[in-house]
Amino acid sequence: MTFPGKEAQAGVFPETAEIKNNHLFIGGCDTVELAREFGTPLYLFDEATLRHRAAEFKEEFQSRYPDTLVLYAAKAFICRALAQLMKDEGLGLDVVSGGELAIARSVNFPRDKIYFHGNNKSPAELTEALDWKIGRVVVDNFYELSLLSSLAQERGRIQDILLRLSPGIDPHTHHLTTTGVTDSKFGFLLAQADEAVAQAQASPYLNLIGLHLHLGSPIFEVEPYQQAIAIILDLAAKMKAKHGLDLKEFSPGGGYALSYTADSPAPPISHYAQAIVTALTADISNLGIDPPRLVVEPGRSMVGRSGVALYRTGATKEIPGIRKYVSLDGGMGDNIRPPLYGARYEAMAASKAGNPDMEKVTLSGRFCESGDILVKDVALPILGAGDIIAIPASGAYCIPMSSNYNAFPRPPIIMVREGRARLIRRRESYEQLMSCDLV
Ligand code: PLP
Repeated sequence: MTFPGKEAQAGVFPETAEIKNNHLFIGGCDTVELAREFGTPLYLFDEATLRHRAAEFKEEFQSRYPDTLVLYAAKAFICRALAQLMKDEGLGLDVVSGGELAIARSVNFPRDKIYFHGNNKSPAELTEALDWKIGRVVVDNFYELSLLSSLAQERGRIQDILLRLSPGIDPHTHHLTTTGVTDSKFGFLLAQADEAVAQAQASPYLNLIGLHLHLGSPIFEVEPYQQAIAIILDLAAKMKAKHGLDLKEFSPGGGYALSYTADSPAPPISHYAQAIVTALTADISNLGIDPPRLVVEPGRSMVGRSGVALYRTGATKEIPGIRKYVSLDGGMGDNIRPPLYGARYEAMAASKAGNPDMEKVTLSGRFCESGDILVKDVALPILGAGDIIAIPASGAYCIPMSSNYNAFPRPPIIMVREGRARLIRRRESYEQLMSCDLV
């Protein structure tokens, strides 16, 4: 990677990113050319970064704990090409809707490696999961326990399930992405676990094989994982003594951090793997539990770095002594994270990548909200209309949370690799925008 003058930013861009001929290149492709060919806004994914990350997750966990299944948490971003890539890399898939399940199905994803999550799965979605014979349903609450049991009974199926428990641990991240605390809509309370295990075991149509937790995201510390693992495994030991629970699988969820900005680097995956495996092996040996399969569910940390959003600059507005706004041709419609979570990003002038940073500007979106600001007060070269701005670390939770606000068509997505770009999702057309409308 050659990033002269921008070395600090290198870690937030895909691993193939380089500055050549004053332009930003990714996957051997000139991003300015890509913007011209496919139009902007444009999301690109670097295939090498994606594949290396998938392999890294498997290596870091399985070298420490061979019986680990790495699932990709599809909610971070899924499309058919990505589902195919995760399948090729030998990962499993965590889905949370019939739609994500349908995408998995469209590429014939190995169904035994699909885990179905969610706090309010519909009868129709659970039926789709049962009919397609997916591996596991991660049951979130009592309503779902009885619903799934009766749907499985109607089909004469026995479904393997895990119970999702809320360990009551704060992972010290944004309150909107904190899920494992007591006051959360997700999972059984610890106090409900006894009844949930008994109810699951009482159904001849459910096969309870494990326990699951997910603390939130992004989590920069490992201690919350260790505390939560101790709590849930202690509970598993009690459930073994009382109900004969055989813990075949255990999942501490996902939530690993991603480096969004140069000043907030995420710990390496090895750091999480070491902490999780150490806690798991120590706790099971203290508690006398047979080693379960470890199931991990990275989403953001799997795909975040490989994705880059490209925008074209348009209007500028200078407010003397206060701020200079440079408007881009995308914004909160394709990336809601800054207004929703106060998320921070880096930015690079891809069309002037070698130029020195000369002024601080605020990159605003094109949508009709004052809060539609992508990056505030960022140092960039002098920009004119028509420059290309690259926002790195855009691979997770941008596209899947995108909207048609202002009836703006959603952007296309390309995959780049060794100098070639492949369209994996077309830009939405006005016809598609109106395809469900009736007059
Ligand atoms: N697993 C579960 C159950 C989740 O709810 C989530 C995110 O919401 C994830 C995994 C993935 O989290 P992340 O993308 O932060 O790794």
